[in-house]
Amino acid sequence: MNIILLGPPGAGKGTQAQRLVERLGMRQLSTGDMLRAAVKAGTPVGLKAKAVMEAGELVSDEIVSALISDELAAMGDSTGAIFDGYPRTEAQAVSLDGILEQHGRKLDHVIELGVDEDALVERITGRYTCAKCGKGYHDKFERPAKEGVCDKCGSTEFKRRPDDNEETVRTRMAEYRAKTAPILPFYEQRGIVSRVDGMAEMDAVTAAIEAILKG
Ligand code: AMP
Repeated sequence: MNIILLGPPGAGKGTQAQRLVERLGMRQLSTGDMLRAAVKAGTPVGLKAKAVMEAGELVSDEIVSALISDELAAMGDSTGAIFDGYPRTEAQAVSLDGILEQHGRKLDHVIELGVDEDALVERITGRYTCAKCGKGYHDKFERPAKEGVCDKCGSTEFKRRPDDNEETVRTRMAEYRAKTAPILPFYEQRGIVSRVDGMAEMDAVTAAIEAILKG
């Protein structure tokens, strides 16, 4: 099974992808995570991507499609893929078709997480993660049980994404509206698009996605 989670920044794609990984043994392929790792490691891709990401703009199609292609090549054929934050442009959607074909895979579902944009800014600007285990938190909606200590691993170090500030979030949303939302009709023609209410409780969103995957 190969699926795309589509939705604006903060819609919950990453959170839901992690849950599907835990429950269904699928693999999350997040170009955002791959790019952040490249920036941290200072690779040539990271050096190119850093300023673009900090501005909330899109990294080149060639770079992200190459990351996805390499990642799929390194994956076992029987493991399902969850594309999170990719494709983001029509050119990437076309590339993904080619990459999947090369690997004898096909796209089963495109799941769009629908959300209210005003709520997204609050969601995104308040979010942070444990620096050690990656568990996600939120200033308002999900604080650790003991202030300053990760519920999952006990670490006291947390981090925020540099692009999770209001100005950059607005640019990321504009990029989504202008370049990513228009790829939906490309998949609608194939009858593989489903919509889920991304403003619902996290568990309800997971249940709705799992119901779609079970068909
Ligand atoms: P994300 O973690 O998916 O929100 O991505 C963070 C940032 O990485 C985006 O704002 C872009 O600058 C860049 N990025 C991630 N995925 C892509 C993609 N598929 N195409 C272009 N840029 C991307």
